[in-house]
Amino acid sequence: MRLLVVEDEPDLRDGLVRALRGQGYAVDAAAEGEDGLHKAQSSDYDAIVLDVMLPRVDGWEVLARLRETKATPVLMLTARDRTADRVRGLDAGADDYLVKPFDNAELFARLRALIRRGSGQARATLEIGDVRIDTAARLVTRAGKAVTLTAREYVLLEYLALHRGEVVTRTALYEHLFDEQESTLSNILDVHVFNLRRKLGPELIVTRRGHGYCIE
Ligand code: CA
Repeated sequence: MRLLVVEDEPDLRDGLVRALRGQGYAVDAAAEGEDGLHKAQSSDYDAIVLDVMLPRVDGWEVLARLRETKATPVLMLTARDRTADRVRGLDAGADDYLVKPFDNAELFARLRALIRRGSGQARATLEIGDVRIDTAARLVTRAGKAVTLTAREYVLLEYLALHRGEVVTRTALYEHLFDEQESTLSNILDVHVFNLRRKLGPELIVTRRGHGYCIE
């Protein structure tokens, strides 16, 4: 899953990027609205964390202009717990909001829910044969036994599971799972797929030569 963080305060922005990468997400960042909007329009992010209070082009304007062309899930960060702001955010097409200061655990939970809904999955648990993925708790079991995955292996599995039945191209996987700095390491994906097959069985992820990967 690839996320965009638009936040002008450097400490908060860097902290968010670090924390979200720790959860296995690929994360791009923008320090101002114009750059954020440009990135949001030119890439297919799985979700965007958008601060309301930005210099020059603020979060409201970024959201309004983004919604002219894209339905990417957006979680807005607002500094004040004012009903008017919340209503305005939701009316303007935000999918969720958080009031600063917030707990990272709550941000993670809300993003997981947004990404799930964005994929058309209302249920938090995905089942593929004897493999069970609890996307709320980020736990994977196989035949009832817990399987330990790295954060990156987990997001790869979840992404393929959320697109079950579709062939997901390598390009799409690179776009959604790796950020701008990692995209050149082209065998990283094969290593993660190899490890997932080792842990969850060789048949779970099917390779479509020349196309990509699929969970059937
Ligand atoms: Ca700000």
